[in-house]
Amino acid sequence: MWGVQQETQTPWPSEETAHPLLLLEEPRSDASDIEAILSPLGQPVLRVSLESEGLDVLLEEEEVACILIDARQSGPTGLAVAHVLREHEQARHLPLFLLGGASCEPVDRLHGHSLGTVDCLVAPVQPDLLRAKVEVLLALRHREWEMRGVLARAARAEALARENERKLRTLLGNLPGMAYRGHYEHPCPFTFASEGALRLTGYRPEDFIERRVNWGELVLPEDYKRIWKEMEEALSTRSPFILIYRIRARTGEVRWVWEHRVGLFGPRGEVAALEGFVTDITSFRRSQQERELLHQQVEEERNRLESILEQLPVAVHIADAPSGRTVYANAQAEHLLGHPMIGGSTRKDYDQYRAIHPDGRRYTSDEYPIARVLETGEPEAGHELLYARPDGSVRVFHISAGPIRNAQGELQAVVASFMDITRLKRAERHQTFLASVSETLASSLDYEATLSHVVKRAVPDLGDGCALDLLEPDGSIRRLAVSHVDPTREALAWELARQRPPRLEDGSGPGAVIRTGQTELQADISEEMLVQYASSTEHLELLRKTGVRSSLIVPLHARDRTFGALAFFFCKEGYPRALHRYDESLRLLAEDLGRRAALAVDNARLYREAQLAVRQRDEFLSVASHELKTPLTPLHLTLTALARELQPRDGAALSERLQRYVQAARRQTHKLSTLINALFDVSRITQGRLMLEPAELDLGEVVREVVAWFAPEASRVGSELRVEGEARVPGRWDRLRLEQVITNLISNAIRYGSGRPIVARVEVEGNRARLVVRDEGIGIPLEAQERIFGKFERAVSDRHYGGLGLGLYISRSIVEALGGTIRVESRPGEGSTFTVDLPRAGPPVPSG
Ligand code: ADP
Repeated sequence: MWGVQQETQTPWPSEETAHPLLLLEEPRSDASDIEAILSPLGQPVLRVSLESEGLDVLLEEEEVACILIDARQSGPTGLAVAHVLREHEQARHLPLFLLGGASCEPVDRLHGHSLGTVDCLVAPVQPDLLRAKVEVLLALRHREWEMRGVLARAARAEALARENERKLRTLLGNLPGMAYRGHYEHPCPFTFASEGALRLTGYRPEDFIERRVNWGELVLPEDYKRIWKEMEEALSTRSPFILIYRIRARTGEVRWVWEHRVGLFGPRGEVAALEGFVTDITSFRRSQQERELLHQQVEEERNRLESILEQLPVAVHIADAPSGRTVYANAQAEHLLGHPMIGGSTRKDYDQYRAIHPDGRRYTSDEYPIARVLETGEPEAGHELLYARPDGSVRVFHISAGPIRNAQGELQAVVASFMDITRLKRAERHQTFLASVSETLASSLDYEATLSHVVKRAVPDLGDGCALDLLEPDGSIRRLAVSHVDPTREALAWELARQRPPRLEDGSGPGAVIRTGQTELQADISEEMLVQYASSTEHLELLRKTGVRSSLIVPLHARDRTFGALAFFFCKEGYPRALHRYDESLRLLAEDLGRRAALAVDNARLYREAQLAVRQRDEFLSVASHELKTPLTPLHLTLTALARELQPRDGAALSERLQRYVQAARRQTHKLSTLINALFDVSRITQGRLMLEPAELDLGEVVREVVAWFAPEASRVGSELRVEGEARVPGRWDRLRLEQVITNLISNAIRYGSGRPIVARVEVEGNRARLVVRDEGIGIPLEAQERIFGKFERAVSDRHYGGLGLGLYISRSIVEALGGTIRVESRPGEGSTFTVDLPRAGPPVPSG
């Protein structure tokens, strides 16, 4: 309310109030008679001497109804008093009553009247007349007081009204908008508009009131129709209403306004006027629009995020904090879980999810990573979790969960993301398993021991039990190894094979797998299957005891031959695990294992065969070289004797021809004996029977001697052959063996030297001697440089270069027996350099 103040009590005298009659007495006169006359009027009579000084005070303090001047003694004095009173501030308006005496002339009376004296009575005073006159005066005074009261009240009311109007104007002016009153007609002319009009529209209130502009003309046409309709509807219910629309201000600017409007109704129910309050909500609208835009953007962002989340190959689950209620989960989450998200509203409900521990125990609700983040607020990264889906499959999930916090850092929600890494995990586990088994397989050539080891290793990775059966040369099947997580059932498996070994003609089981070479996978073994497989009641009983529930048998197959079968089993009450049945992935793993095992077995067998062949060859060479050597010595002696016999004595011509034949025969015999010696050396080296006879000798001299032997040969192929380096290199070596090494290196240099120069260099370095033989011939490819020191190893084709490939093998054996080393550096087409390094102190004394 605008505070129309309650009218306070006026100070004006009322009719009932006693107002004294002031009776002024002349000195020495007695006005008590007058007092007595007046007393019936009921008003107090104050008698005051004209000479009293208290008159002023009295006039100040008392509300005197009228003044009576007792001038009966001296009429002029009364007039003089009347004169004075007319000038007196308080007495100026008071009615005067002059009681004159005999001296009171009519002139004086007139004079008295001119002074405003109301009346004048001449003595002798008639009491009734005086009372009646004073009564009239009193009545007049009362009327006057009444009038003054009314006037004062009117003045106060006017002042109040003015104050209220001022307040109203101030209030209206301060209002954030315009208040108006107008006609209910187009285009909404106003009869009143508050000051706010100017701020709101740019037009002054008078512009509206004087109809220079009408409100309806400012409203945008597209809004005008609408709000008129809304107004009509609201007026029909006589209720105040709110309108939101746009106006065009004087500047041309469009503003959004909010209006509270009400209809004022006439006596016949007609709309007599409209009143309203309009305020500018442009900035509010703008911020509202901005908010809406923001909201829309947020919504779009949200949608985009959601569609990204939906398309992610990762499952996403968002739970509200702290309740744990699911607020979002993408389709992938339900797809991976294999069931809809749990709809509960607390963390406790998580126990309906189906995560399990490796031993099959179900997760409790607070073990889930998302629950832990809800609890601690800390991220939980990279957990692996087994999930038993309702369809019976067990999946491995890689799950991470983290907090979502608001700007104040408070936990708002938790997001968990997970993906199915079942295949990856299995592949990883299978790879690790295969790698370790492969190591086992490669560790020994004793394949039966190796295979037994593999059977042991396969449990429990590939099943609760594993058995290996091998095909024997006679077509029977022998159980080589068995392992089981439960030792009693391991014994059962042996017993089964003993009682009823698998047979090639079996319709299923290891026998059938060996016969067909095909894997056999029985994901779920039923009682009927056992009955069908069993060959007798006892057999069936044993099979039942094994508790087998799923089996997988893979062939051991190498080089077109299946020679065995590896069988794996999952059994009832077996090793605690999530998965109890064989599937495609385990089949692939088992087949891989089977292939590796078969290969290892095959390699071991081949190696054994090769070893046997080498041994047989060496034995043959040993015998053959010995046998060949036996007739060669006498043959050599015979030819020497024959040559001597053919010295020119009888006929030169004949003897010369014969001599040539014999020489040729001796050369061939020498070559033959060199070859046989080499073979003989090889068998001696192989058997570790290379004997050395060390003696003091000079390496330089030996080299020069051998080079001298080869000089004719070298010049025949066009190679210059020379010796370089130290003249004397003394040491302790076996002369014949040393000659053998040098001979081999020089003869190779001539053979493979392409007719280019050959240098044999002798060096000494402290207690070691070195021989370097360098040619510029065909060279040796890098890959062959180590190999050529092996038995029968060659780096050239037999067609172009003859040889046994034994020279370097024997040379290295000799050099190493002498405590030295031999090596080659070569580049194809650029020649070869062989370096022999020898200790000068002689061969090391064999220890032990
Ligand atoms: P052989 O010479 O009888 O074949 P060796 O054991 O002496 O047997 O040599 C082995 C192989 O080493 C030769 O077959 C040849 O390929 C290669 N070889 C040896 N010496 C040389 C050389 N100086 N230059 C090129 N190749 C050589």
